[in-house]
Amino acid sequence: MTRELDGRAAARAVRAQVAESARTLREAGTAPTVAILLATDDGGAQWYSRSIARAAEAEGIDCRLVTLASDASQAQVADALAQLAADDAVHGIILQTPLPPGVSAAEVAALIPPRKDLDGMTALSAGQLVLGQPAFAPATAEATMRLLAAHDVPLAGAEVVVIGRSAVVGKPLAQLLLAADATVTVCHSRTRELATVAARAEVLVVAIGRPRFVGAEHVRPGAIVVDVGTNAEPNGSLVGDVDAAAVDGVAGALSPVPGGVGPLTTATLLHHAVEAAQLAAAAAAR
Ligand code: NAP
Repeated sequence: MTRELDGRAAARAVRAQVAESARTLREAGTAPTVAILLATDDGGAQWYSRSIARAAEAEGIDCRLVTLASDASQAQVADALAQLAADDAVHGIILQTPLPPGVSAAEVAALIPPRKDLDGMTALSAGQLVLGQPAFAPATAEATMRLLAAHDVPLAGAEVVVIGRSAVVGKPLAQLLLAADATVTVCHSRTRELATVAARAEVLVVAIGRPRFVGAEHVRPGAIVVDVGTNAEPNGSLVGDVDAAAVDGVAGALSPVPGGVGPLTTATLLHHAVEAAQLAAAAAAR
């Protein structure tokens, strides 16, 4: 039987810490506040933004949902971000994707100061992560690390394979795993003999956006498998990138979808929000 790497319990523990930090901040006169900038009609992105806002409010973090039209211009998006960047009452900014057609994500994200960059979107945050300097990592990548830590998965010296090299998951995760002394291989759509490479892994992380793509042939017997994928089925249910039925009994452990990395991603964003508010409060006190 394959063990379940539950993310919900770990997320509750992180959120309890967040609520405690938010309370302490409020008692000291700082209302931790995040802003989510949303400029899309995409139903998934709207649902995700509202769910972050609800989670933030539930833990004592004020949340401003700033909504622009899905055909907003680059100047309008940039203007909204510049206002949030300059507003001392806003401690963290989440720029929701997709952005309107013609808006350069890299150019507008650059307007987010690193201290407010809760999802590690900016080039500066990415560079700081590579150099091992303090920075907010992309929340999903950090959530994967939190999931592994919550289940006491040893990483130092371990052979870890990450499938997927996106800027939001695969690449930053590789940096975090290296910092944890893992031996890391990153695979992608051009990797030859993917199943052979993946089956070397003691820890396999899959973030490709292909429903049930990874089967038993990709998994070393006993491996710890983290499924980052969230793919919507026609009936509205979510499935991961791993075929859970196929790897059952082969993987030593597998994170469920939903209920694995997802809840920890939200919890990590909230954790970053209170950290950003703490840093701002400390800077204001100097
Ligand atoms: P993405 O930007 O589309 O990147 C997908 C990556 O997978 C690319 O590097 C791509 O390779 C690689 N890939 C695609 N097909 C492949 C194949 N057949 N074999 C090997 N590699 C393949 O996706 P993403 O934003 O990283 O998201 C990945 C998944 O994670 C999605 O299901 C997404 O919904 C999910 N996600 C979940 C959370 C969460 O909180 N749980 C957060 C973010 C994303 P190339 O680079 O060669 O194209």
